[in-house]
Amino acid sequence: MSVRTVTEQELEEQKLYTQKIRSALHIYDKKPLAYVHSYGCQQNVTDGEKIKGMLAEMGFDFTDDTSSADFILFNTCAVRENAVDRVFGNVGALKHLKKKNPRLIISVCGCMVQQPETAKKLKQSFPFVDIIFGTHLLHTFPELLCRCIFGGGRVFDISDSDGVIAEGLPVKRDSTFKASVPIMYGCNNFCTYCVVPYVRGRERSREPDEVINEVKSLIDSGYKDILLLGQNVNSYGKGTDVDFPELLFRLDNLEGDFRLEFMTSHPKDCTERLIDVIAESKHICHHIHLPVQCGSDRILKLMNRHYDTERYMYLVDYARKKIPDLNLTTDIIVGFPGEQREDFEQTLELMKRVCFDSAFTFIFSPREGTKAAEMEDPISADEKGKWFRELLEVQGECGSQSYQKYVGKTLNVLCEGRGRTSDEYYNGKSRQNIIVDFNGDENDIGRFVNVKITKALAWALVGEKTD
Ligand code: SAM
Ligand code: SF4
Repeated sequence: MSVRTVTEQELEEQKLYTQKIRSALHIYDKKPLAYVHSYGCQQNVTDGEKIKGMLAEMGFDFTDDTSSADFILFNTCAVRENAVDRVFGNVGALKHLKKKNPRLIISVCGCMVQQPETAKKLKQSFPFVDIIFGTHLLHTFPELLCRCIFGGGRVFDISDSDGVIAEGLPVKRDSTFKASVPIMYGCNNFCTYCVVPYVRGRERSREPDEVINEVKSLIDSGYKDILLLGQNVNSYGKGTDVDFPELLFRLDNLEGDFRLEFMTSHPKDCTERLIDVIAESKHICHHIHLPVQCGSDRILKLMNRHYDTERYMYLVDYARKKIPDLNLTTDIIVGFPGEQREDFEQTLELMKRVCFDSAFTFIFSPREGTKAAEMEDPISADEKGKWFRELLEVQGECGSQSYQKYVGKTLNVLCEGRGRTSDEYYNGKSRQNIIVDFNGDENDIGRFVNVKITKALAWALVGEKTD
């Protein structure tokens, strides 16, 4: 499939819409305020930062308080039912604000909007929502807002195209030292439980030079922590002449004082070369998030994951041999349709064998349009809840042991802000991407410091600054 990149002319057109809005905003006696909230994954957060970039160019300031906002946008997630329910609840709560301030513009965008039934419900049950647009139309946001302001009506645009790549959009980053850089969009894997390929379109990779130039300019502007993003980063590169290990290798060779992270890896595309590049790198975090999803080969097949537990265990052993201080994390789904007690016990077995440093665990949530939503699912919600609690218990035991090995060691930590364990402490992340609380001060924020670890908790380390 050939990937369509948004042309310069299209971007210029959007700039004209931006200018038109900017000129119209003088009706406000002070800068109008925008409230932008992104639900769900880091990809959504970066989309939110682009929307904020466009709003800033239009002349908006920002607020964390919906009741003082002139423009409210919810950038939504559709991965699980509870995320969708939360959005419906939060959108419903805006109705009274619209009554108080009829000039308020409310917009809902993102993955939820790409689901036909959900989009219909938003349109019909929330008449006070002014603009609804899908994930593929992010770059046309100035035009949509213009249509709403000057056309005076509600605007719905839910193209179901396979998506495009838009380079050069303005970005208003939430941090001055941490930045996320999408290297690809969409997903081709169609794991049978997952809605992402339906709402984010086909996989498309950015040109390596675009990624390298963006990362270089972030490093030059003082960014210290750069997170490369994609639904399946290690399949990066289709249609370009560079694969993911090569991209990482080239980025690791950039000059500067920085760290590189990446999310998420799919076990079917995780290669020895990728692990070798991490092991030999100067800047890449010693952290791999490698979602196994389940410990039963039968269920992995039904999930359409294209690896088995033997291959997964091989990768774990190889990675731990090459990167002895590897922080290995995972995602697990409990209660996939057709999963039996024996399958679940195999997941528990795998958890005990691997002893993940940390795991994100989910109960299966049927999603509109996916294959798994059509499968027989005889196990009761109560039973699934019981399995889920058992899984948490097993993970809890592994988690509480896994950080003990760092006690007495000195780790290099990027300080991010105030402490998590106490107000007197400051907090950061080690190269293993582990949370570290320590006796820092305000000047440490955004800088690397060395911390001697004195205590290990199940979810964090605590220590004393040594420099
Ligand atoms: N692309 C990534 C991957 O393949 O690992 C992550 C995609 S998804 C946003 C993050 C996690 O949500 C998945 O790894 C999976 O464990 C979980 N998830 C996705 N769909 C789900 C569903 N229908 N029910 C429960 N959990 C789900
Ligand atoms: Fe969803 Fe699977 Fe794609 Fe991850 S790899 S986004 S779980 S379809």
